[in-house]
Amino acid sequence: MNRPAGAHDPYVRVRGAREHNLRAVDVDIPRDALVVFAGVSGSGKSSLAFGTLYAEAQRRYFESVAPYARRLIHQIGAPKVEEITGLPPAVALEQRRSAPTSRSSVGTVTTLSNSLRMLFSRAGTYPEGAPRLDSDAFSPNTPAGACPECHGLGTVHRVTEESLVPDPALSIRDGAIAAWPGAWQGKNLRDILAALGHDIDRPWRDLPRADRDWILFTDEQPVVTVHPVRDAERIQRPYKGTYMSARRYVLHTVADSRSATLRARAERHLVSARCPRCDGRRLRPEALAVTVAGHDIAALAALPLSRLATVLRPLATGEDAAGTLAADLVSRIEVLTELGLGYLGTDRPTPTLSAGELQRLRLATQLRSGLFGVVYVLDEPSAGLHPADSAALLTVLDRLKAAGNSLFVVEHHLDVVRRADWIVEVGPRAGEHGGRVLYSGPPAGLADVAESATRRFVFPDGTAPPPRTPRAPSGTLRLRGVTRHNLRDLDADFPLGVFTAVTGVSGSGKSTLVGQVLADTVAAHLDGQGGDVAAEGLDAVDRLVRVDQRPIGRTPRSNLATYTGLFDAVRKVFAATDGARALGYTAGRFSFNVTAGRCEVCQGEGFVAVELLFLPGSYAPCTACHGARYNPETLEITYRGANIAEVLDMTVDTATGFLADVPAALRSLRTLQDVGLGYLRLGQPATELSGGEAQRIKLATELQRAHRGHTLYVLDEPTTGLHPADTELLLRQLHGLVDAGHTVVVVEHDMTVAAGADHVLDLGPGGGAEGGRIVAAGTPEEVAAAPGSATASYLKAALS
Ligand code: ADP
Ligand code: ADP
Ligand code: ZN
Ligand code: ZN
Repeated sequence: MNRPAGAHDPYVRVRGAREHNLRAVDVDIPRDALVVFAGVSGSGKSSLAFGTLYAEAQRRYFESVAPYARRLIHQIGAPKVEEITGLPPAVALEQRRSAPTSRSSVGTVTTLSNSLRMLFSRAGTYPEGAPRLDSDAFSPNTPAGACPECHGLGTVHRVTEESLVPDPALSIRDGAIAAWPGAWQGKNLRDILAALGHDIDRPWRDLPRADRDWILFTDEQPVVTVHPVRDAERIQRPYKGTYMSARRYVLHTVADSRSATLRARAERHLVSARCPRCDGRRLRPEALAVTVAGHDIAALAALPLSRLATVLRPLATGEDAAGTLAADLVSRIEVLTELGLGYLGTDRPTPTLSAGELQRLRLATQLRSGLFGVVYVLDEPSAGLHPADSAALLTVLDRLKAAGNSLFVVEHHLDVVRRADWIVEVGPRAGEHGGRVLYSGPPAGLADVAESATRRFVFPDGTAPPPRTPRAPSGTLRLRGVTRHNLRDLDADFPLGVFTAVTGVSGSGKSTLVGQVLADTVAAHLDGQGGDVAAEGLDAVDRLVRVDQRPIGRTPRSNLATYTGLFDAVRKVFAATDGARALGYTAGRFSFNVTAGRCEVCQGEGFVAVELLFLPGSYAPCTACHGARYNPETLEITYRGANIAEVLDMTVDTATGFLADVPAALRSLRTLQDVGLGYLRLGQPATELSGGEAQRIKLATELQRAHRGHTLYVLDEPTTGLHPADTELLLRQLHGLVDAGHTVVVVEHDMTVAAGADHVLDLGPGGGAEGGRIVAAGTPEEVAAAPGSATASYLKAALS
């Protein structure tokens, strides 16, 4: 172990790693191998893989290429580690923290769009006499390509009679033209119309068509002498008024008004519509006139990748430029299709993709990069992947390794854990109870590690609990004729009062059906509106709760304590201390969002944002308060010997003792412990929480409330980021909600979750156009026996 780390040392050697909860970790990790970092959620896996190894590789890289960035890097701080030897350059493919811009798409992330444009530029069929276009001219994001009408957006914002006059039964005097401004200006316009001879007392819909069009849409601005229609109590003199149509007013206000309120009010009267000039295709007519295999570039970009490959394949045989470009495109698309992403179109905006889909897109793109000798650091690449597709993922990981790279993967999925060359288990538990390396070696050796939380899942001892008897539903919620994305005229039944798992390969339509249609329909019903989907049984549901993995806040300003409401109780306790009362400090003083009590340098954030070209959204500790967030006067007040910043620095477990006399706080703290989050600090900023932690905070916030009536809980892949041991904890909570009479519907790939459900709804059979149907529905046993289901065999294995 102690031999010097020379150039031929095949290990990355870490000494004295102390990032976050790591306890002076020493570990040796082989290069050119698939290394899985395992351990319960919060144990320190990411702190080691991302926070230490990747962060250090990145720091060294910046020091070598961008000396000017050194000062900034210094400010963010190097990872807390004494020494790392043998560390190659690293590329991170992370799920959290990636915030693609709204104009990025599947095509831009994979660079398939570039190649497609090149193909059109060099090898497209042009109309006779038309000049060849540069590849830029096929991009809606460049001035050379963008449709001049909609600026490449594909949609335009317009006004219509309906958007300007929502209630045509009203007269102009009664406010038919809702888009008009209020107060004097609105009355002025009304009086001008009267002066122009329009009838302002007839219901709008009874006015002649030509008059209505003129009033709403004219570009003329006639000037007339107005004899104000008299209000009983006021008399005004005649004056000269200029008319402005409702359209002119709305467009002018949206474009030029300095008042945000007026702008927002005017925007409500705009409707977006497909751009009439390009028909939503976002490009100039010259570009849209060029075709490949008979299709324009917008049509090809809208095809699912698997169909795009079918269109391009016949071209890929040629020896010419077209042949070479097409062959390259086809081979890159095949990798994406293997990774279960063939249902995506290149024009699909990245904000509509799940984190798992995005990461797999990036992973596939790396295969083409030709890099070798780098470490890829990955965050749960199996997220969002059906078990049937995980073989393909392992193949891609193998190929990256075969090309001479190392793979450091934070992963819980047992198929991936079992295939690892090497396992590093961090633990034994979370936060301060974790942070040690329990094992580092080939998978087989894990069998002997008593403290390992992973061991019993990788080497099951055959004492699986007997299958549950499914609960009987208390009713049924029926959706009829659902048509959205790839769902076409689908009927789906969700039993109430039970736990339902919705399964199916990636892209089969699970999120569309559950996260969108089911949730939106119930939400619309609860709001007293009709949804656009026919449904029965909605009356049985009194509340809808969506528990997702989205951050509980986007800035360090929100944290665990503020989100759960527990901080309100803590601030009241501080305001009630003698010290605070003597100085007249109220609960507001103890908020880091209020001027009186907070540190003014960082405005209570404890951090200042550092603008770094390469590292968007980095934060450095505030130099005035050193992260305490409060000004010194506020910090002088103590409760039971601790000031407010010290309380925020306590873990949930510690605070449970410290705040034992504060019932309102204790209730929140207990539920946080119940979902396994006792290790989190109260003031841990939202930006430092993983998706799984955010999700469980939301769940705990939900559990601490007193419930009346029947709640429908909707969750999309709740086990993402969770170790199997954490999944057990989460399931116990969710089943507890069902036992209390509520309904839980989860979209899930984890077959242990599906096996433990009362009801399984399996979508498929494939992704995209090949999916969107219900292949099987029933108890887990029934679905496990269903023919034609991609899920059945995996579910059967989980049941036995
Ligand atoms: P894992 O990847 O095993 O789920 P993490 O490495 O993310 O665990 O977290 C380990 C511990 O460090 C946890 O207690 C977590 O709350 C804490 N932690 C994570 N990120 C940060 C951060 N940016 N600052 C401080 N503490 C953090
Ligand atoms: P799953 O949840 O089973 O992975 P999704 O419901 O996300 O599947 O996707 C089903 C189909 O709908 C896929 O073909 C997908 O590309 C398409 N789709 C999903 N979301 C959108 C969207 N926002 N815009 C266009 N198509 C979408
Ligand atoms: Zn257009
Ligand atoms: Zn400060």
